[in-house]
Amino acid sequence: MYRWMSHALLWLLGVLPALIALGSLPAGTFDTAGGVLNALGRLTGIGGLGLLLVTAIVSFRIPGFDRLFGGLTTLWHIHHLMGAISFLLLLAHPLLLALAASQVSLATAVAVLYPSGVAVGLGWGALLLMMVFLAPSFSFFGAPHYQRWKSLHKLSGVAALLALAHTFMLARTTAEPWSTLIWLVLAGAAIAALSYGLVFARRAAQHRYTVTGVARPANNVVELSLEPVGKALRYQAGQFVYLTPYDSKLQAGYREEHPYTLSSAPGESGLRIAIKDLGDASRAIGAIAHGSEVRIMGPYGAFFPVHNRDSELWVAGGIGITPFLGRARELAVRGEAVDMHLIYCVQDEARALFGDELRRFSSRIPGFSLTMHYFYKHGPLAGDFVRDHCSDCAQRQVYACGPGPLNGLVRQIALAAGVPRHHFHSEEFDLL
Ligand SMILES: Cc1cc2nc3c(=O)[nH]c(=O)nc-3n(C[C@H](O)[C@H](O)[C@H](O)COP(=O)(O)OP(=O)(O)OC[C@H]3O[C@@H](n4cnc5c(N)ncnc54)[C@H](O)[C@@H]3O)c2cc1C
Repeated sequence: MYRWMSHALLWLLGVLPALIALGSLPAGTFDTAGGVLNALGRLTGIGGLGLLLVTAIVSFRIPGFDRLFGGLTTLWHIHHLMGAISFLLLLAHPLLLALAASQVSLATAVAVLYPSGVAVGLGWGALLLMMVFLAPSFSFFGAPHYQRWKSLHKLSGVAALLALAHTFMLARTTAEPWSTLIWLVLAGAAIAALSYGLVFARRAAQHRYTVTGVARPANNVVELSLEPVGKALRYQAGQFVYLTPYDSKLQAGYREEHPYTLSSAPGESGLRIAIKDLGDASRAIGAIAHGSEVRIMGPYGAFFPVHNRDSELWVAGGIGITPFLGRARELAVRGEAVDMHLIYCVQDEARALFGDELRRFSSRIPGFSLTMHYFYKHGPLAGDFVRDHCSDCAQRQVYACGPGPLNGLVRQIALAAGVPRHHFHSEEFDLL
């Protein structure tokens, strides 16, 4: 299935309750201003709840399923966007209903907003809970602490339950049996998705590995080598996993899952994961004990296509080299001729992670070439630099992995050079 189709299906599912409700509105609803406002008030409530439930559904993490949507990071972007739209619709819902009632009198408008009965009280409860758990996502109070943000996010389940109870108690817009049917299907799917992540995935979908080596390619970077205890993970180059360390002596991050890209080649007996110190858990993992257990969940992501015969331009920034490293290591084993150019952007020579290994690949892999871009020497990456080193970049598939601003810059440069939009692919290491 084409990606746009799976995306369209998700959005359609989210707005389906509102579409059914729209079809159920009696003739003449839109004849007066009060009628229009009242209908909009109902539709925003129904639409907001539909999108909220689909937002919960897309938080599932079934390995492999995310490829249908362009990878887990794309699904998370949809999750964020749908969540934000649902919140705005739910916020508009009581205001529009009150505005509609104000056409009768101010007292009626106040009565609509006042949580006099259980049903309206539940609605307000859902909205207030949403404000509490969504405020950090909008970075209203600065960048949130990831683990605290994640715990707070669990309130979303309670908010959805309150909103569902509110809708069932006041269901007057959508004709039966459609109303009950659509809410049961969406709520069931949301509960199934959340239970998969919270219960099943933790027990069944994890692979057990042992730490067999900790290499230090730089002061603030380690590369873990892991060997499977039971069934080994099957993956493609450039995919990522959730890694959970079980070394209780770790200063931070014990039994805490974090996403990391596999830097090993799929044919290797074990896994390799290069981790840069970017916070508490990623710093602490540098001291992980040899022989300790880690659990791996995945693989996720669809950065590189399964089959690609086109020539490629890769642009990596800092630790964003990991998906390319995995792919280059795989190509080095295969020894086939390729047409790939890597521009590796780092601050200076000392920060060129795996620089020696990458230079060796340019002589070992036929058709693979490497250009180093040093910020202190070349300044920010510019279109001229890219065209000077890769004159046919417009004819290539372009892959960028690095900090958000670098990915944005590469996209601008690629589009300005004539790369079609759908030939540009990027991966971010930030899911918030
Ligand atoms: C798809 C993907 C691939 C990645 N690959 C690599 C890699 O190969 N090498 C590498 O060094 N880093 C990689 N990262 C980044 C890595 O996940 C974070 O640096 C790490 O989780 C930081 O955790 P912390 O506790 O040390 O820092 P914190 O200060 O807790 O977090 C710093 C930031 O990391 C992100 N983050 C933290 N925990 C999580 C989590 N559980 N899930 C999602 N995001 C989280 C948040 O954006 C947070 O703001 C990748 C991230 C993603 C999303």
